[in-house]
Formats: sequence, C-alpha cells, structure tokens
Amino acid sequence: MINWPHENAVARRKLGVPAEWTIYSLEILDDGNYLAKGAIEGTTVAGKKKWMGREKVATIAPAELREERMRYERTTGKCHYCLGEGKVAAKWERDVGTTYATCKRCLGTGQAKEVTP
Ligand SMILES: [Zn+2]
Repeated sequence: MINWPHENAVARRKLGVPAEWTIYSLEILDDGNYLAKGAIEGTTVAGKKKWMGREKVATIAPAELREERMRYERTTGKCHYCLGEGKVAAKWERDVGTTYATCKRCLGTGQAKEVTP
C-alpha cells in the first residue's frame, strides 16, 4: 500500500524532486492546507530503508490535491481512491492481518469515475 500517493505527486512537482522523494510526515494546518515533510528514500548496504539528504517541506492546498486526484483519474483511468484496486484496507488485526472493504467510490470496479468528487 502506498501512503499518500496524490499528496506525494503534488509535493514532488512543487519541490522539483525525484520520484524517490517521499513524504514521511503530513499534517493539516489550521488554515486547511497540508504541510508535507519528506526526504529521499534510499536503502543502506544492509538493505534497510533509510532517509537520505535534507528534509524538504511543501505546503499543499486542498484544491491542488483535488486537481491531482482528477489528473490521476484522467491519465490512468483508475479510481483515485483505491488506485484501481477496487478495494481499500478496512482494518488490521494481529491474528487476521488486513481486512479489505469494497471501494465506495468505484464500487469495486477500480475504474475512474466521470464525475468530480
Ligand atoms: Zn475505487
């Protein structure tokens, strides 16, 4: 599961950073905008994940996020909510693992909707 795919896309574009740059902290500010903090995600020689380089911060407006979701659907033809999976993680239990539910936006088809959210 990818965390914040559309937020990452907006932040990468605004900051002009490569696809390896990934958000590790996302908070909602009092004015309704999002504050995204991230860095380049790399791996150590031992194969462990590691944050590299300096932290970069981007502010994302809700409108920019809506635009990105629509752009994603136009360019991929996939539902922006489930990323074309048709299902979303509903809950996680230690013995069972992740339980999925049918995506409410595309009703399980994974296809982009014609209407705006
Ligand atoms: Zn969906």
